[in-house]
Amino acid sequence: MNQEKYVLSVEGLTVSFDGFKAVDDLSLYVLENNIHVIIGPNGAGKTTVLDLICGKTKVTSGSIDFKGQELTKLKEHQIVHKGVGRKFQNPSIYEDLSVFENLELSFPRGRTVWGALTFKRNKEVIERIQEVAELIFLSEKLHTPADVLSHGQKQWLEIGMLLIQDPDLLMLDEPVAGMSVSERHKTAELLQKITKNRSVLVIEHDMQFVEKIADRVTVMHQGKILSEGSIQKVKNDPKVIEVYLGH
Ligand code: ADP
Ligand code: MG
Repeated sequence: MNQEKYVLSVEGLTVSFDGFKAVDDLSLYVLENNIHVIIGPNGAGKTTVLDLICGKTKVTSGSIDFKGQELTKLKEHQIVHKGVGRKFQNPSIYEDLSVFENLELSFPRGRTVWGALTFKRNKEVIERIQEVAELIFLSEKLHTPADVLSHGQKQWLEIGMLLIQDPDLLMLDEPVAGMSVSERHKTAELLQKITKNRSVLVIEHDMQFVEKIADRVTVMHQGKILSEGSIQKVKNDPKVIEVYLGH
């Protein structure tokens, strides 16, 4: 039997900013080893959903269950330790450091001060960095300073900095914005490779990209779910067509 399991179950999620509900009683379920895409017009509440899951914004009501643990009571760094990685729209890499050094800085050093103090560039770390660099198409650029990378390569590096922590859920906000066509293709390939043993929750506008990667699509509008299912299903949903034509 191929039993489907959820890595993330969001139920009744609501956040109110001075009475305005940016996310309004939203329920969302992300399957293991799935690429789940959230689409929707600007202001729909997509980024806010990721902010709530990663603990950046406090939930007004509702629950967020990640692998059997309630996240709404935890702080941002605790949520990272539970295995949730979040990439923001603008890359936050260290421009002066090399690709290798950026990846090395993101390597989990154990959770204690002692672990951080005794951290050494051992074989395990170097191998893991090389493995991730290969995944993100940067193995030839390990000693290149990050500031000379292309926009797309910087985005990949930031994904790599999250991958090195081996999260069970990776959340990406518009990862292909500003990328060239060939970079978009490679990003799709990258996401497909990394979901062998994790789930990815992606916000994306580029519909060609969404068609290529999405196992499941959730369409948001005004803080709520408008439609959900396969890309074919949501694309042909009259409610979705109306919202997109209206914009
Ligand atoms: P999307 O990512 O779908 O474009 P957002 O989640 O960024 O939409 O925003 C949804 C709505 O919530 C917008 O109207 C936005 O202005 C509002 N919003 C988001 N964050 C805050 C905040 N911290 N305080 C007040 N309003 C916010
Ligand atoms: Mg957004």
